[in-house]
Amino acid sequence: MPILVMKFGGTSVATLDRIRRAAKRVGREVANGYDVIVIVSAMAGETNKLVGYVEETSPLFDAREYDAVVSSGEQVTAGLMALTLQEMDVPARSWQGWQVPLKTTDAHAAARIEEIPPANILAKFEQGMRVAVVAGFQGIAPDNRITTLGRGGSDTTAVAFAAAFGAERCDIYTDVDGVYTTDPRISENARKLDRIAFEEMLELASLGAKVLQTRSVELAMRYKVKLRVLSSFGEMGDDAGTLVCDEEDIVESNVVAGVAYSRDEAKMTLISVADRPGIAAAIFGPLAEAGVNVDMIVQNISEEGRTDMTFSCPTNQVARAEAAMKKAKEAGEINFHDLVADTGVAKVSVVGIGMRSHAGVAAKMFQALRDEGINIKVITTSEIKISVLIDRKYMELAVQALHDAFELEKVA
Ligand code: ADP
Ligand code: ASP
Ligand code: MG
Repeated sequence: MPILVMKFGGTSVATLDRIRRAAKRVGREVANGYDVIVIVSAMAGETNKLVGYVEETSPLFDAREYDAVVSSGEQVTAGLMALTLQEMDVPARSWQGWQVPLKTTDAHAAARIEEIPPANILAKFEQGMRVAVVAGFQGIAPDNRITTLGRGGSDTTAVAFAAAFGAERCDIYTDVDGVYTTDPRISENARKLDRIAFEEMLELASLGAKVLQTRSVELAMRYKVKLRVLSSFGEMGDDAGTLVCDEEDIVESNVVAGVAYSRDEAKMTLISVADRPGIAAAIFGPLAEAGVNVDMIVQNISEEGRTDMTFSCPTNQVARAEAAMKKAKEAGEINFHDLVADTGVAKVSVVGIGMRSHAGVAAKMFQALRDEGINIKVITTSEIKISVLIDRKYMELAVQALHDAFELEKVA
């Protein structure tokens, strides 16, 4: 029988009633003749709660124990979903990541999927099981310890299963009815896209649009998985949603496809470091070793052989970054006067494949921010995106202003 992957996010399994509603959708696809692999997230808010426990217990936590704690939310929903399906007379059982086994690297808290051998689950399908409910977000490292795939990782579990099992489609059920030109919670003018190109979705996701985890889009692109985002609250049979597809399959598109934001950014500046060959390596080497995800980097003008080095990283990695820099200073690898952390910044980005062939996007972006009196602290660009770091208190205003400036509410 053809296989379908259906993933339900946290809000879609937030209560027993919602699990029942999701299970009904699954039951409908079983009746349509599919064997279904259901990937579930933890109940809404559950993972945040677990992360909070870990951080309160141990601020510079051991990531292996972090994974042991935060993976538990998905264990609960997988079991509850399987029970709900059984109550509906649908033959189903739950699978934890290690039972599949979903094999990952040992990069705890941000592990990458290495392999999903399909044999165990296929054998059960052959014996008449119709639904495999798999706990999303979790896997098992080579040393048999539990791993997690980074926040939002159930999307990646879903796409990886779709690729491993040659599924006909991977449907991501969430609390919005598709991918929008920007987060519909921030701009009421946001417009749902019927289709979005893989590359644009990849940029939007990596720049903060959490509707899909970045890695899930990468995998879908690489393995040509038919990936759809749709609402678990809409009418059953309303299959509208958004299809993430190849650029060639999109008829109309604006120069800018969407606006993304990331709230949890911190700007860190090392004041007065020696401006000498190798200084960047001496700073960013230890940061990488400490697991700090450095994003933007600016080296300021140098005076008398000293310079300031600014970089951004997620707010929750500030303590890690500070510890790594202090250690490098104590070891005599770098010397700086001070390390200043500004945790009140946000990143706002515009993304669009059309930027490859259209000039003037950056100018328009900067003018729109100027008109709102928003100061830009750091700028970075790539072929299809422009990002700026601004004060967090202007983040929503900036997103709305950019959405208006590029007229994203209209189809080109
Ligand atoms: P789930 O729990 O189902 O995985 P998430 O909260 O991870 O759901 O992702 C869905 C959320 O992503 C939406 O509620 C919305 O606020 C947010 N979002 C951000 N950017 C976008 C966008 N461009 N289109 C749609 N949703 C977006
Ligand atoms: N529950 C995990 C998280 O909140 C994984 C997911 O929902 O995708 O990050
Ligand atoms: Mg998510």
